[in-house]
Amino acid sequence: MPNNQALISIVLPVFNEEAGINNTIEILEKFIKYQAEQYELIFVDDGSKDKSIELINKAQNKYSNIKVIEFSRNFGHQLAITAGIRYANGDAVVVMDADLQDPPSVIPNMIQKWRAGYDVVYGKRLVREGETLFKKITAKTFYRVMHRISNIDIPLDTGDFRLMDRKVVNTLSKLKEPEPFVRGLVSWVGFKQTSVQYERQERLAGETKYPLSKMTRLASDGLTSFSDVPLKLINYVGAISIIIGLLYGFIMMFNQFTTVIFATSALFVLSGMIMLGMGIIGNYLFRTFDASKHRPQYVIANSYGFQSHRKNIKT
Ligand code: UDP
Ligand code: MG
Repeated sequence: MPNNQALISIVLPVFNEEAGINNTIEILEKFIKYQAEQYELIFVDDGSKDKSIELINKAQNKYSNIKVIEFSRNFGHQLAITAGIRYANGDAVVVMDADLQDPPSVIPNMIQKWRAGYDVVYGKRLVREGETLFKKITAKTFYRVMHRISNIDIPLDTGDFRLMDRKVVNTLSKLKEPEPFVRGLVSWVGFKQTSVQYERQERLAGETKYPLSKMTRLASDGLTSFSDVPLKLINYVGAISIIIGLLYGFIMMFNQFTTVIFATSALFVLSGMIMLGMGIIGNYLFRTFDASKHRPQYVIANSYGFQSHRKNIKT
């Protein structure tokens, strides 16, 4: 962490954000103007189908600190962040949403903690404005389940809004999981970590780009890459099922009647449990299979504004 004026990179993943991207850029540039540090903004266009990329390219003519990576298609939020971090030149890198739900006013607090010697300063959400009750409940439950069953210490109620020191960024850039769960990887990397609390704002414009399908996928990636508890659960459920079966058989020896209804229901329950177990194993197996293909994590169609990016750790 340098004592003099530092370069801070802000990484912003973008997927169909034409409704609010100009506003985000203007607010960020205004914020930067009054800061002591130097800033670069790295937008990662995650295969947007709207005018996001054109709008950002246009803004590049106005602001020289804007850089852009354009993916060849939609690879997902986590990979957009991963690419942005690799391209960042900063002494510290901040990741934040392009919809400004994570307020820039928190960044100076993060920098203060970074200057005090912390390597990772993550934003901890106190409240979530303008999000559905369903999202709030599922997110809260997910973070708590994850916290309990994962084998690393992932902090509660933190998303991807965080500041990371150069050495954390360099380590992260070497990890090449096909479907990374970035907030888990940051905890896995270690170093000195702390939090700043903040109130998550409402989206500036547009709709959420995280439908239920993407949320479930993120949750499944998080669970399978940082916990083996679901696999162990299959053993427990199997063992309990065997005990129940034996007890039932024992009772049946003394009662000469059979209940068809019970047998049918048991059949459904047991086959359901077996299929669930197979599904859980399948999830882990798929991750192994996915990793064994050794494909690049993402494909970059274009990049704009980079002169001296760290070529050695780009992909
Ligand atoms: N995003 C992305 N790729 C995707 C989905 C989302 O790059 O496939 C970006 C999106 O543009 C935003 C950030 O990731 O900057 C977080 O997404 P969003 O705000 O929709 O999620 P939410 O805040 O509703 O959880
Ligand atoms: Mg958002």
